[in-house]
Parts: sequence; C-alpha cells; structure tokens
Amino acid sequence: MQWDYWRLLTVLSLAGFAGLIVGHMMTFLFVATLIYVFWLQSKWFQLRTWLEKPKKNSSPQAEGVIDDVCRQIEQMRAQNSSRKKKLTGYLKRFQSATAALPDAVVVMGEFGQVSWANTSATELLGISWPRDNGVRVNNLVRDPTFQHLLEIDSDASAVVVAPSPMNDRIQLEFKVVRYASSDRLLIARDITQTQKLQRMRRDFVANVSHELRTPLTVLRGYLETLDTESDPDLWRQALPVMQQQSQRMHLMIKDLLALSQLETGDKPLLHRPTDIPRLLTVIVDDAKRLEHYKAHQIHLQIDSNKWLMADVDELRSAISNLIFNAVKYTPAECKIEVVWAVSKNVPTISVIDHGEGIEARHLERLTERFYRVDSGRSREAGGTGLGLAIVKHVLQRHNAVLTIDSQIGQGSTFCCIFPENKLVEPGDT
Ligand code: ADP
Repeated sequence: MQWDYWRLLTVLSLAGFAGLIVGHMMTFLFVATLIYVFWLQSKWFQLRTWLEKPKKNSSPQAEGVIDDVCRQIEQMRAQNSSRKKKLTGYLKRFQSATAALPDAVVVMGEFGQVSWANTSATELLGISWPRDNGVRVNNLVRDPTFQHLLEIDSDASAVVVAPSPMNDRIQLEFKVVRYASSDRLLIARDITQTQKLQRMRRDFVANVSHELRTPLTVLRGYLETLDTESDPDLWRQALPVMQQQSQRMHLMIKDLLALSQLETGDKPLLHRPTDIPRLLTVIVDDAKRLEHYKAHQIHLQIDSNKWLMADVDELRSAISNLIFNAVKYTPAECKIEVVWAVSKNVPTISVIDHGEGIEARHLERLTERFYRVDSGRSREAGGTGLGLAIVKHVLQRHNAVLTIDSQIGQGSTFCCIFPENKLVEPGDT
C-alpha cells in the first residue's frame, strides 16, 4: 500500500515542481494525474486478462496493491491445484475400488436417474456409465419387483430378488440405500451361487430324511407288532427284513460319512505307489462274491504293468463302486470288462459293461448325491445312491476325471482318467 502512496506522491511532486518552473503548475498536475490513472487502469486491465488466461498472459508487474493481489491469487491457485490433485487421487482410488467390486453399484439422483455406475453394473444390469448418464434406472431394469423397490421410499433393510436383465439365469439381490438428502445408491449382488447352495442343502436334508424314513418305518412297524409273546413264525419272518433294513441304514450312514470326509478334505490323502493290476484283481474277485453276481463274465485286461501314485483305500472304494455297479445293474451272464491301460502316457482304468445302458438324459446327473436312474432297482440292489458321488470325489482328490458313456441296449463305459504325473514304475517306493 505504501508503495502506491509514494509513487503517486513522487509523480505529483515532480509534476508540481516542473509546473512551478515553467509557470503551469495546475496543468502539469492535471496531466500527471491523468497519466497515472491511465497507467493504473492499464495494470488492472492486464490483471483481468491474466486472471482469465493465467497460462497465456503474464501477471502485471507493479509494486504495491496490484502485486499483492497477484501474489495472493497465485498462492490460492497453488493451494487449489494441490487440493484438486488430492481429490482427483481420492476419486480415482474410489472409482477403481468400486470398479473392482463384484456387486453392481449405481448412484441415482432424486428421480432415479443414473449419476454414476461401476463396471459390474454393465455386466449385471446393462447400465453403462457415462453412456446412460441421466437415464432413469426404471427404464433400464424393468422387472416389476425391482420397480416396486424403487417406488417405495425404502429403508436400507428392504431387499428384493429379481433376475438380471442381462441374463435371466443370474439372480440378483437389489438394495436401495438413501444418502445425502435426495440421492440414492442402488446395489445389486449376484446370489445365483448362494441360492444354488441353499437349494442343494435343502435337497440334501430332504433326501437323507427320505432315504432313512423308509427303513425306519419298516423297523418301527415290526417293533410295534412284535413282543415276547408273538408267534415264532412272525419273528422268523420279521428278523431278516429288520436286518436288511438296518443294514440299509448302516450302508447309507457309512457312505454319507465317507462322502462328507471326502468333501470337507478332513481326511489327508495318503499317496503311495499303488499296484493297480493287483488292486483290480482283488476287486474283481470280491465282485464275484457279490449277491448280485449271477454268472457274469468279468474279464480283467491288464495292458500296462505301471503303477499309480494314489491313496489305495480311496481308490479301492471308487473302483469297487464302478465294478460292483456293473454287476448290480446288468443281467445275469452279462459280459463286463475291466481294463488298465496307459495310452500316450494317459493312465486309464475302464469298467465296460454290456448291459441295458443308461439313457443320455441321466448321464450328466449320475454323479449327483442320491441320483438314481431307477430308484426301485437301486434300492433292491442295496444301493444308497451315493456310490458315483464318492467315485467323483475320490477322483477329484487324485486330479483325475470320470467320464461316462452309455448306449441304450449296448451298455455303459465308466473311465477314470488320471494325470500322467501319477504314473510310477512297478515296485517304486
Ligand atoms: P447306487 O448306490 O444306487 O448304485 P450310484 O451312485 O452308484 O448309486 O449309481 C447311481 C445310479 O446310476 C444307479 O442307481 C443306477 O441307476 C445307475 N448306474 C450306475 N452304474 C450303472 C451301470 N453300470 N449300468 C446301469 N446303470 C448304472
């Protein structure tokens, strides 16, 4: 400020002094004041153009108020730009975090119009930002239950489940949360897998209860009618049935426990070099002692003398299931081939029967727990419906796969295909 006074004073003093010498003091003072006002005006004008385009124009150079104003503006600009950089950084981090979210997130304005959306919103809801900026969400997601959720002024706990507009096999859980005064946040979560698991759990509990109810009903029926006074004939008739039903429950629980151990991975896998030719010979001999073995012709074909790294107990249980099934589900005298081969370094154990075969529509579901092609026949054969589920899990634990091929009237082929790295030389320890 002082600078401005001194400058004005100096200009006026010099003009006054010069005017005094030439005898026109007032004129000199007037002209000097005019020049000073123009000069000042030009500096303010320069300041304005600098403020408009700071990068293009230079700031006015004039000690005093103008310089102070320029310096303060420059300081504020520097502060603003560092704040802007910080905010841009936060925004970028927020956007990349929400973009990585598996849930769809849409920021909606007062009337439900899109203000922002993350990448999952494109996949799950078909809402793309900035393309759909300003479009009302209820024009993009047209499911009536979802529209109802948008209409009601929901609290955070209100959720609805509706299919994704992009793929109706994907089930979404929608939630609308109000924030600030009028803005709302739409969150959509893919719950297809959770729903599938819940359904599987419900089915499993229902299946186990159903499977155990029949033998229990039979046992209860006999227990209610029999007592120490009962006719010995009735006892003779009841005992084998009761034994059979309790055996059925025992097998079911045994298989359920085995399956649960395999699924939870509680039991460690004991990988040891396993003599496959010997294992198959033992299982084929066991199959010949089965109640359902009726002059079946089982051919064991050993095409390789190699062994496998495997958990012998688990592998025995899986292969027994396949060979015993071949005996159980084929008619008397049917030909069954059990083959151990290593072709192009791919170790394979195949169980081929020439029975009635299985319809193609059942093949995909055969390894599901309790899935049976013919329930009556399976129960009659003492089946629990869990055998192939056990086989599948055992093979999974060995990084192997089960393939099933079948033709009605020609028979079925079950192949266990192991990875090459499980092969070992005979006698390896
Ligand atoms: P189960 O204890 O009933 O035998 P599995 O899981 O071992 O259960 O088999 C599932 C179903 O697959 C059986 O109920 C049967 O209908 C069918 N199945 C299995 N193996 C054969 C086969 N070799 N030939 C025809 N059907 C078979």
